Amino acid sequence: MGLLGLILLGAPGSGKGTQAVRLAESYGLQHLSTGDLLRDEVRRGTPLGAEAKDYMDAGQLVPDALILGMVRLRLEAGREKGFLLDGFPRTVAQAEALDGMLAAVGRRLDHVLFLDVPEDELVTRLALRRSCPGCGRVYHLKASPPKAEGRCDGCGQELIQRPDDTESVVRDRLKVYASSTQPLVDYYEARKLLRHVVALGDINAIQAQLRVILGEPGA
Ligand code: AMP
Repeated sequence: MGLLGLILLGAPGSGKGTQAVRLAESYGLQHLSTGDLLRDEVRRGTPLGAEAKDYMDAGQLVPDALILGMVRLRLEAGREKGFLLDGFPRTVAQAEALDGMLAAVGRRLDHVLFLDVPEDELVTRLALRRSCPGCGRVYHLKASPPKAEGRCDGCGQELIQRPDDTESVVRDRLKVYASSTQPLVDYYEARKLLRHVVALGDINAIQAQLRVILGEPGA
């Protein structure tokens, strides 16, 4: 078997980021989170960040012209590892563009792991989510709180609520998800790549389900 190629698909708040960090570490994958990459561009005040910011704050998708270049560069640079895409693709057009990019760099997609969570649970999770503006680590005030209240376990910075995790923006993000990203479930089902995981309950138990699908690393 060659290098593993994975997509984590799911709504905002489905736990993609949390699961992705763990999978990338244990399977030695290049982790590409377009949301994290964009937030980093915004933080650094780059031209790309300046263009993306208003879309992100409004819970809308950033135009493909900005996203595709960002992903392409990194896929080209990371050829020696398998990859794990988190938050990309988000539309059928992006999925089609991804097919072309992978063919161009000789990389292959093995599985699309769909983290399925009911909508009312998503809204609660996003309201309780806090993020570290320094290292990007994510917490849930009830399910996985930081050790010291309001501070990141990793780098000690003060945790924030992402501007797009506030209630009104969350509603818009979920609408965008339903209309633009949900169709990818059918897209990848039709290609026999979709693996469905009910992503409720304990973070470790969900990780274990994903590992059953992928097989143990190095096996
Ligand atoms: P996320 O952290 O994945 O929830 O992404 C946060 C925001 O970044 C989204 O609400 C979008 O505004 C933007 N974004 C992230 N990934 C993409 C993508 N693949 N296509 C378009 N916009 C994206």
